[in-house]
Amino acid sequence: MTNFAANSILVLAEVMRSGALAKSAAGLLGAASVVGAPVALVVTQPGQGQAAAQAAGSLGAAQVLVVETEAAGSVLTAPLVDALVSAAELVRPEAVLVSNSVEARDAAARFAVRTASALAVDAIGVDRDEEGIIARHSVYGGGYNVDSAVTFGSPVITLRQGAVDTRAEAATPVVTTLEVVSTAGPAASVVSFAEVEGTSNRPELRGAAKVVSGGRGLGSTENFVLVEELADALGAAVGASRAAVDAGYIPSTHQVGQTGVSVSPQLYVALGISGAIQHRAGMQTAKTIVAINKDSDAPIFEIADFGVVGDVFTVVPKLIAALGEKKA
Ligand code: FAD
Repeated sequence: MTNFAANSILVLAEVMRSGALAKSAAGLLGAASVVGAPVALVVTQPGQGQAAAQAAGSLGAAQVLVVETEAAGSVLTAPLVDALVSAAELVRPEAVLVSNSVEARDAAARFAVRTASALAVDAIGVDRDEEGIIARHSVYGGGYNVDSAVTFGSPVITLRQGAVDTRAEAATPVVTTLEVVSTAGPAASVVSFAEVEGTSNRPELRGAAKVVSGGRGLGSTENFVLVEELADALGAAVGASRAAVDAGYIPSTHQVGQTGVSVSPQLYVALGISGAIQHRAGMQTAKTIVAINKDSDAPIFEIADFGVVGDVFTVVPKLIAALGEKKA
C-alpha cells in the first residue's frame, strides 16, 4: 500500500488521445511542487498508462496514479471525475490542481460538486500561508490580483495554462494502478473522432510561450499577414482582438480576451490593438508586453513593458528584418 504525504497535492495530468501528456501538465506539477508533494493522476486508454506515468515523473511527480479505461477515449469528462474521486479518497490531498482547459475545468467542477469541495477557477498561481493553500487570481481584466482560500476541506483549483513558469525536478515515479468505480451516470459519448490536420507549424495559442496578436489597426485580411510574419520570425502563436475577428481578418479561435482565449505567455506583442479592458482580460498576465500603436494615448501602453508609437506597417517589417539579421 502506497503512503501519501500529508502535504500531497493531487494533479490531474491530462492525457491527449495520442497518449502524450497535455502541455499543461508541466505547469501544474511545477505549481504543486511549490506548495507540497505532487501526486499525478493520469487517466488513459488501455496500454498508454505506463508511458504517461513516466512522462509525469519526468515533470516532477514522484507518485503517479494510473487509471486505464476504454472510457477515456469514448466518454467525455465522467471518467476523469470518477478517477478524481477515487484518487482523492486514496491520497487525501491538501489541494487538487487541474488545468483550466475546457474538459479539465468541467471535470473539476463536477468533482467539486460530488465531493462538496470548494472550487477556485482560473488561478494564475498557488501559494501557501499558515492556514493552507492559496489560489492567486488576476481578475477584472487583469486590473486586480486577488487570493482565494477555502475555509473547509481541500480546494479544487483550476490553473490557467501557461501561467506558471516553475518546473519541478524530474523524479523516478512510484506508479500505482488505481481501481475506479464508475458511477455510470449520464455522460456524453464520443461517437466519432476525426483528427484535425494542423495547417501550420505555429504553436497553439493556449499555453504558447510567445504570442503576437493583431487588431483592427491592421485594416484588412491581407495586411493581417504581417502579424503572422512577425509571429513566425519569433516562433510565436498568432492571436487577435475581437475587432480583428469580427472584421474577418482571422478565425475566432485566435481571439484573445474576455470572450476568447486567456493567455499568459512570456512575451505578448500587440499590433494595432487599442487595449480595451475585454482584450486585456485575456493577456494582462503576460510576463512581457510589447505594444506597437500609432496612437500614443492608446490604453495598451498603460500595461506595456515596451511600447513603440508608430505605424505597424513601418515598424513591423523593420522588426522582422532585424530579427532575420540576428538569426543569420
Ligand atoms: P480598436 O479599439 O479599434 O483599436 C485599433 C487600434 O489600432 C487603435 O488603438 C489605433 O490607434 C491602432 N492603429 C490603427 N492603425 C494603426 C497602424 N497603422 N499602426 C499602428 N496602430 C494602428 N475584445 C477583445 O479583443 N477580446 C475579447 O474577448 C472581447 N470580448 C468582449 C466582450 C464584450 C462583452 C464586449 C462588450 C466587448 C468585447 N471585446 C473584446 C471588444 C473590445 O471592447 C474592443 O472593442 C476590442 O478589443 C477592440 O479591438 P482593437 O483594439 O483591435 O480595435
